[in-house]
Amino acid sequence: MRIDHDALIVGAGGAGLYAALELSRAGVDTAVLTKLYPTRSHTGTAQGGICAALGNLEEDRWEWHMFDTVKGGDYLVDQDAAEVLAREAIETVVELEHLGLPFNRTPDGRIDQRRFGGHTRNFGEGPVRRSCYAADRTGHMILQTLYQQCLRAGVRFYDEYHVVDLLADGGDLGDGGRAAGVVAYRVADGTLVTMAARTVLLATGGFGRMFRITSNAWSLAGDGVALAYRHGIPLEDMEFYQFHPTGIYGIGILLSEAARGEGGYLLNDDGERFMERYAPGLMELAPRDIVSRAEHLEIRDGRGIGGSDYLYLDVRHLGRAVIEEKLPDITGFARTFLGVEPLKEPVPIQPTAHYAMGGIPTDVRARVVRDELNTVVEGLYAAGECACVSVHGANRLGTNSLVDLLVFGRRAGRDMAAYCRAGTARPDVPDEAADPARAELEALASRRSGESPALLRKALADLMMDNVGVFRDGGTLRTAVAGVRELRERYARVRVSDAGTVFNTDLLGVCELGYLLDCAEATAAAALARTESRGAHSREDFPERDDARWLTHSLAFRGDGGPVLRHKPVTITRFAPKPRTY
Ligand SMILES: Cc1cc2nc3c(=O)[nH]c(=O)nc-3n(C[C@H](O)[C@H](O)[C@H](O)COP(=O)(O)OP(=O)(O)OC[C@H]3O[C@@H](n4cnc5c(N)ncnc54)[C@H](O)[C@@H]3O)c2cc1C
Repeated sequence: MRIDHDALIVGAGGAGLYAALELSRAGVDTAVLTKLYPTRSHTGTAQGGICAALGNLEEDRWEWHMFDTVKGGDYLVDQDAAEVLAREAIETVVELEHLGLPFNRTPDGRIDQRRFGGHTRNFGEGPVRRSCYAADRTGHMILQTLYQQCLRAGVRFYDEYHVVDLLADGGDLGDGGRAAGVVAYRVADGTLVTMAARTVLLATGGFGRMFRITSNAWSLAGDGVALAYRHGIPLEDMEFYQFHPTGIYGIGILLSEAARGEGGYLLNDDGERFMERYAPGLMELAPRDIVSRAEHLEIRDGRGIGGSDYLYLDVRHLGRAVIEEKLPDITGFARTFLGVEPLKEPVPIQPTAHYAMGGIPTDVRARVVRDELNTVVEGLYAAGECACVSVHGANRLGTNSLVDLLVFGRRAGRDMAAYCRAGTARPDVPDEAADPARAELEALASRRSGESPALLRKALADLMMDNVGVFRDGGTLRTAVAGVRELRERYARVRVSDAGTVFNTDLLGVCELGYLLDCAEATAAAALARTESRGAHSREDFPERDDARWLTHSLAFRGDGGPVLRHKPVTITRFAPKPRTY
């Protein structure tokens, strides 16, 4: 089956929907493909908020937001991109409000704002209220608002179409070719659909599922990231993966940083607010890498609760009104999943794998670039968590992801519209373009016996959690590199139990495992190569940041014997690197 559109968007999270809206408004024939029903995208689970220097409650400026982002990212941030982020956050939030997003309000009717980690004021003074929010359901509101607007604007949706390959014209994507469309597997009946387009946006989200304890939805397997990698696009800064300090103990479901933004405490077994010893200035509102490391050290030194491997998040002193008005969902999670009543008891928490700072490299127009010279891949775009612009550098600040996906999703849509209007000829997509994907799927689907995909996926998640976690060193990283290689070999013998064509989630699960293996391979290799500690990448054998050698982005290219690593310079415009203290 063959379908043509001008613009194709893979992914219906915040990034994909904002781009689709911009394209449709510009009159471009636009389609969104999504493996999930759109409003089930992970953006819908975002809790705490979206930051913008509106200054509704106290003075704030976009320059301060930019500086906090650069410092929070331990100076690995591309500062031209951080400037775009901080400036355009303001107009994007206002636009969202005009699109109908029901933000919480101040008594005088303006958008209410709250504190989040690492967002300070005036170069290091205390936290500033910068996060705009709708209770602890901000992402849900963003997703619903954008989806409704997309329907109104006439965006065509292909729901439950799982993209399994990218198409190129004039050479592969990493080799001078241009984007030409995608191949999608229709989940309802197993039909392979060739979709041709002038321009394609990858907005497929993150890959937290490569870790055992994660806040990420089951579907977050790095599909777009892996497909780009397979077509010769390098992956940027994969060694930087964020662990969020407050996942529900044992299962990783997120309890938003908003709990600490509203004044919640972190306590150890002695009842001590231990952040005093790690970040006396910002305490619980230090950036996430610092708080997660502190938790890890407390647990390692035997101050976990009852000597165990968790700590407490305590919101009791905030009172019923604040909890019910501003944190209703996450307190509900504590009741449902732990049987703990946050009004009366502290909640057991531990670090949880949360966010990929790295991904598909792009420029500030969201165009995918394929090497250290930032050579643009014609017609191909990436935005949202799957992309690396890079605005988060080595560590993302809370609420900066929603800004990233909306600001750069919107930019992607605008640039793609201009690209289509420029009248570029349609790419050449022959009928046999889907053959490689078909052959691969048929080979997988025909293997009834062999390795269990569930066991392989679990082995991968354990391997990554235990060896590429909050702290790493040369030994654990070598274990991870070798372990991923071995799992890849076993993956070549993986079995698919379901022989059918209707909702064959077995087959798609095996594809997702393949994507996770690609992401894990690049992550472990880049982490082993980077012999310093910076942001979320903490090497116990190299505890210091090393700007002389490592103030550089890493690019992992797919190679026959494993990833090949190269580097590209960090863009520094306003803020020279300084020691990062809070
Ligand atoms: C629990 C939680 C809470 C968070 N809270 C916040 C917060 O308060 N503030 C903040 O700034 N950030 C927060 N984040 C981070 C932020 O929500 C995510 O980074 C962001 O939503 C990612 O959006 P996205 O548009 O890139 O992708 P997603 O929203 O993850 O959407 C991905 C889309 O891609 C589609 N897709 C994937 N693979 C395929 C394929 N092969 N074929 C077709 N479609 C495909 C999916 O169907 C989906 O529609 C949170 C994250 C989590 C997990």
